Amino acid sequence: MNFSDLGLAEPLLRAVTEYGYTTPTPIQAQAIPVVLGGGDLLGGAQTGTGKTAGFTLPMLHRLMEKPAVRDVKGRLPIRALILTPTRELAAQVEESVRTYGKYSKLTSMVMFGGVGMQPQIDRLRKGVDILVATPGRLLDHHQQRTLDLSHIEIFVLDEADRMLDMGFIHDIKKVLAIVPAQKQSLLFSATFSDEIKALADRLLNKPALIEVARRNQTNDSIVQKIHPVGREMKKDLLAHLIKTNDWDQVLVFTRMKSGANKLVEFLEKQGISAMAIHGNKSQAARTKALAEFKTGDLTVLVATDIAARGIDIDQLPHVVNFELPNVPEDYVHRIGRTGRAGSTGEAVSLVCVDENGFLRDIERLIKHEIPKEIIEGFAPPAGEKPEPIVLGRMVIGEGAGRGFRPSGGGGRPGGGGGGRPGGGGGGRPGGGGGGGRSGPPRSGSGGGRGGPSSGPRSGPPKR
Ligand code: AMP
Repeated sequence: MNFSDLGLAEPLLRAVTEYGYTTPTPIQAQAIPVVLGGGDLLGGAQTGTGKTAGFTLPMLHRLMEKPAVRDVKGRLPIRALILTPTRELAAQVEESVRTYGKYSKLTSMVMFGGVGMQPQIDRLRKGVDILVATPGRLLDHHQQRTLDLSHIEIFVLDEADRMLDMGFIHDIKKVLAIVPAQKQSLLFSATFSDEIKALADRLLNKPALIEVARRNQTNDSIVQKIHPVGREMKKDLLAHLIKTNDWDQVLVFTRMKSGANKLVEFLEKQGISAMAIHGNKSQAARTKALAEFKTGDLTVLVATDIAARGIDIDQLPHVVNFELPNVPEDYVHRIGRTGRAGSTGEAVSLVCVDENGFLRDIERLIKHEIPKEIIEGFAPPAGEKPEPIVLGRMVIGEGAGRGFRPSGGGGRPGGGGGGRPGGGGGGRPGGGGGGGRSGPPRSGSGGGRGGPSSGPRSGPPKR
């Protein structure tokens, strides 16, 4: 099948062809006709499947078909709203909207917290067709009456499972109450928990169900490898791998922000250019790091899980798990950053004795064993004993003793309903909340969502 078989308008086909796409991915082939037909959609797809173009292209088509009607004040109303869990994903989705819509007259804007409100207000005043936003800042604008969502025709909830994991359910409900009841709605999620199903029931009207790749199935085009290594040798092994293999673009994951910073310092001392991207960095620093990494000026980008959501770099060749994630699903998300849309990639994990429990949970989730390879000179020292892994206030892992380990079968520590360790549904371990989204205080906040130094929190994280 070709893109031209899908009935998309010529300006969209031109943009897609120019961007180098020839064949629609499975989610695109299935979702585009549904959305073009005006129906609601429940999409089961993880990042890397091409889902963004799957909803963006038909959305642009529908908006192009029906010209906007100016509101009573003579302004062009916002006609489509895409909600995403993180700033990075919002920025990338909006970039896709601009890329695919470059030969249309439609306009778009991205809106998230951590940056000033006023430029966003100025941009809104000029009129925007498509708004891509994270929930918190969207609601701030709504409260301040700087945003009118009463003309939304198409509403997309992207990565809905992640939004719930991050404690956004109340914000989502508030947004649903603001947008018109009559609209076309699309919900994308990599998993379908009961909570997601309840949300889908509430939002969608007789949706088409399209599922392309389950979250616990890793992509075949990713070569996965485990390097068992001594606890204290991980940094040296990483530098060794980068240097001896001439890796020039590596996304490295750590569990905690502090670990990310220390690793960057070490790599820089080794002459390897590196930057960290996580919630304690300003938005400007995160944007700069991502931009330099994308252009190839930066060899290593060190990220924590939430900050990495939505990082989408074509043909990213190497992903390294410097530390295994304590939530097994995060492993699938992490390595999904490579081997995207047909290209091959390599995902290596540096695993010390403390992490054997995490590794077992991951292999159980993906239903296969990952090949192990010891790199000469970096073998785990004989007799190295597991030590507990400290995640903020939580202590888990092989050495933690019974009772601290996450309950079996890949369940999330803290148990129950998508909650994260650290309590209260939205908190990440270590307090401070919302790993990817702490940052400058939100302007106009004070509505009980917690300030920048509120420590362990139980409410929804900042955005
Ligand atoms: P997504 O799942 O939307 O994050 O997209 C994953 C990656 O696949 C992005 O880098 C897209 O640019 C790329 N992509 C999306 N659709 C296609 C396509 N039809 N052909 C080739 N690459 C694509």
